[in-house]
Amino acid sequence: MPTPKPLIAGNWKMNGLRASKGEFEAMIAGATPELVGRADILVCPPVTLLTLFADFAAGSPVSVGAQDTHTETFGAYTGFLSAEMLADAGASAVIVGHSERRAILDETDAMVHAKTLAAWRAGLAAIICVGETRAERDAGTAVSVVERQLAHSVPDGATDDRLVIAYEPIWAIGTGLTPTSADIEYMHGHIRDLLVARFGVEGRGMRILYGGSLKPSNAKEILAIPNVDGGLIGGASLKAADFLAIASAVPAR
Ligand code: PEP
Repeated sequence: MPTPKPLIAGNWKMNGLRASKGEFEAMIAGATPELVGRADILVCPPVTLLTLFADFAAGSPVSVGAQDTHTETFGAYTGFLSAEMLADAGASAVIVGHSERRAILDETDAMVHAKTLAAWRAGLAAIICVGETRAERDAGTAVSVVERQLAHSVPDGATDDRLVIAYEPIWAIGTGLTPTSADIEYMHGHIRDLLVARFGVEGRGMRILYGGSLKPSNAKEILAIPNVDGGLIGGASLKAADFLAIASAVPAR
């Protein structure tokens, strides 16, 4: 079975105003047939820009996604957004269980599981984030932490077109630090084994992204690691030049 087509996904977090549309337009302009032949390109702006960016991206190979969803379809949930609303605004995917939400809002694996089901209900792909803290890595429990997160966050019935896993060691996010290539290879290989054990052949086609201080200078090395099927990129996704340079580093398969 061929390896999955890589995905380069940008997470803009709480960054970006309407004035940032030039960066997004530059990303669309830079998404050449050669580049999108190697990797799918997704940008997840703040929700205030979702419709604007979706309109810009219409007819281009660049997709837009959201950074979180509520679990319900609609109702008295002030300030929240349903997966149906995100799809209606033009999203094709949503990030769930990002470590910042797990840490700041105490999001549990059970909540991530429910949000993933909500994403699927609305026809969105779910990008489920997992990853250990520095203390967990130092204690030698990184693998068991990720195993537990996957077991409890990923619902049954996952398919390779609607589930993406992002392995993001929390200590690598926004710090400039990255694990060794050997550590990334080991963790991604282990996640692949778990997905195949649970979902059979579908698990082989599921994309496992690496996230955490991915940048133009380290992208070539990291994106060439077996079972690294692209990246989830925070800081370096805000500038078209950096984001496109990372996408260009995806090896031709
Ligand atoms: C992230 O928060 O998903 C992330 C990978 O951030 P950064 O690339 O800035 O480390």
